[in-house]
Amino acid sequence: MTSQRLYYQNAYTTRFEATIVERVRDEDQTAVILDHTYFYPTSGGQPHDMGTLNNIAVHNVTIREKDAAVLHWLDTTDLWQNEVSGHVNWARRFDHMQQHTGQHILSQAFIQVAQAETVGFHLSDNTLTIDLHSSQLNPNQVEEAEYLANQIIWQNRPVHIRSVTMAQAKELPLRKLPPVRQGNLRLIEIDKFDLSACGGTHVRHSGEVGIIKIVKLERQNNQLRVEFACGQRALNDYRLKNSIVNQLSAELTTGADEIVTSVQRSKEENKENRRRLKKQQEQLLFFEAKTLIEQAKMVGKTAVVTRVFGEDEIDPGQMRVLGNHLTQNDHVVALLGLAANKSQLLFCRSNDAPGEMNQLIKPALQILGSAAGGGSAVMAQGGGPGTDQERVQQAIDKAERLLIGQIR
Ligand SMILES: [Zn+2]
Repeated sequence: MTSQRLYYQNAYTTRFEATIVERVRDEDQTAVILDHTYFYPTSGGQPHDMGTLNNIAVHNVTIREKDAAVLHWLDTTDLWQNEVSGHVNWARRFDHMQQHTGQHILSQAFIQVAQAETVGFHLSDNTLTIDLHSSQLNPNQVEEAEYLANQIIWQNRPVHIRSVTMAQAKELPLRKLPPVRQGNLRLIEIDKFDLSACGGTHVRHSGEVGIIKIVKLERQNNQLRVEFACGQRALNDYRLKNSIVNQLSAELTTGADEIVTSVQRSKEENKENRRRLKKQQEQLLFFEAKTLIEQAKMVGKTAVVTRVFGEDEIDPGQMRVLGNHLTQNDHVVALLGLAANKSQLLFCRSNDAPGEMNQLIKPALQILGSAAGGGSAVMAQGGGPGTDQERVQQAIDKAERLLIGQIR
């Protein structure tokens, strides 16, 4: 039993009476088919309506493949009556009407401005896109198409609905002829501007679309995906962006037109500050190396430097720089440790100093509960799980005792 689709002729009716002609069960869901309906089912790239039947929520509307009947999916099985009052959610319906009519207008505008045909259309609760069969559009053409589309809206042209046979359709300047099918074609004409075959819901006058704003372009192979917003969605988008601009403007204490320059300047300053900071940190490490050598324990003529750092004092990269500074001096052995969320040990010596660093690292790492490390006689390093400074100090002490044994 195929239900009559009354939204084809009138997209503005939201309340109606109808009779249930069939009930369908699919697992734990129930759907009903009505003798006629104003509910739009998901099809042609446009999402379904929502609403109620006898105050029971209709959460999905689909088309049954075998006979094109409209299935109204319900949240409950408690709809016993056959006579029902239908109520289509107008806010959602009108949103789809605005977006869909806007799409017809924008698609035609891209043809007139750049001979760019629409090959794809997608409308969901939060996005609206068309795919253009052209990747060569320049920014001026995009703006021009957007402006033309808005002019058509402001001229408040009537939107006509009519029905023709396939043979008649072939004689008409249709933007796009649908694949061959039986029965009549439903044509939507934006008066003297765009004529296309479509089964969706549209406004009666182009002015109801309100405004069209292109918000993003995305190149995909030889196609251009154009994301845009019409009517209420464009207003919501403007509200969001206006609020972001006002907040940025207040944060940066600058006018809206100065925000970009201001952010670029901040980025430059930040880069310069980092560069300076890095240079000063290196100088500090140089002086730290000098101080550590002055305070080092002398074993014969070898200066043995030991030092355990906390997390806030140094990072592993800086510890390596410190090791380099230390071992550029004669007769130095450095046993360095870092207690952080990952503990680190770095043992190194000058070329003329005694000691086998790779023999010291393993027993020291064992104290940290790790075996992940190694190196050469001159330099060895390794890491373990996070631990406190006391434990790292024990590892360094162990290495120092072994080193003194090696030297003597
Ligand atoms: Zn349409």
